Amino acid sequence: MSLKLKISAKNTKLGKISSFSLPAKKTCVCKTEWCNKHCYADKLERIYKNVKAAYQVNYKATQKVSFVNSMIREIKNSGQDVFRLHVSGDFFDVKYIYNWIKIAKTCPEITFYGYTRAWEHQDLIPHLGILNSLPNVVLFASVDETTTKNPPKTFRIAYAGDEKADNIKAVMCPQQLSKIDFCEDCKICFNTKLNNNVFFTTH
Ligand code: SF4
Repeated sequence: MSLKLKISAKNTKLGKISSFSLPAKKTCVCKTEWCNKHCYADKLERIYKNVKAAYQVNYKATQKVSFVNSMIREIKNSGQDVFRLHVSGDFFDVKYIYNWIKIAKTCPEITFYGYTRAWEHQDLIPHLGILNSLPNVVLFASVDETTTKNPPKTFRIAYAGDEKADNIKAVMCPQQLSKIDFCEDCKICFNTKLNNNVFFTTH
């Protein structure tokens, strides 16, 4: 039996931008102490059983050979020109990263963006670098006050914490400041011509 991917067509922050998510923590191979304390995706999964079930279905779908073609079909059917990778979850292995490289290359008219902590994984970072180098992909290296390494210079940085880090120049997310309603009204994170780092306050 084939597994139907669960793509989210909108959410309260993104607006109409579609996204694909995976189980938090299980796929977050480089989660930090900060993640263990503040992960909102993990909280959502514990509160909403349907959310947890959808992310489990998605994880199982990533293990199928049909994953790439199914995802391409769903993304093209969404009719959107921006796609968010992982509102919950992360790049968990090399094969999965290459699946997204294939998907992004097949959909050059769509901009893919996301935030990842997997840059800290020495086996994953070269492959994430290839994904991030595609002209229609923007990946942010997620960091927080418990991160000890410096992210690669080729990645934009998404810093999460109570206060801005002194050593990271970043714009504060205007949606968190209630200056706008949705990411689709801002576009800072998925404008491929920008290079801003972004600061998110702790939820
Ligand atoms: S900076 Fe803009 S695009 Fe990025 S998360 Fe905030 S509102 Fe969304």
